[in-house]
Amino acid sequence: MSDCIFCKIINGEIPSTSVFQDEQTYAFRDIAPAAPTHILIVPKQHIDSVNAMTEADEQVIGHLFNVARQIAAQEGLSEPGYRLIINTNANAGQTVFHIHLHLLGGRQLKAMG
Ligand code: AMP
Repeated sequence: MSDCIFCKIINGEIPSTSVFQDEQTYAFRDIAPAAPTHILIVPKQHIDSVNAMTEADEQVIGHLFNVARQIAAQEGLSEPGYRLIINTNANAGQTVFHIHLHLLGGRQLKAMG
């Protein structure tokens, strides 16, 4: 998608602080971190949101979680713990409509609500 900010980040048109990438996935540090570690893990394939997922996307979305596990280990978060979040549409506060997994850690996180 030509007007998608995360597609532009994946293509290198917008700078980002890369943490990890493979054939299907790109991960980079959030520009406005909500925790000491705040990383976004995105599929290189453009999918708007969980609402736009199809069965064909199951492998690529499942892979985001396996990548998150590896990054959490690299960042020293496996034992202390971390949170994985996917916001979907307005009530959840989704602002970028290219599906992404937030990885948050590095402090005690507040209860969800
Ligand atoms: P969401 O609210 O779930 O759609 O999350 C979008 C996230 O993208 C927010 O946490 C933003 O801070 C982050 N973000 C937006 N633009 C950039 C950017 N250029 N580089 C890194 N993170 C970004």
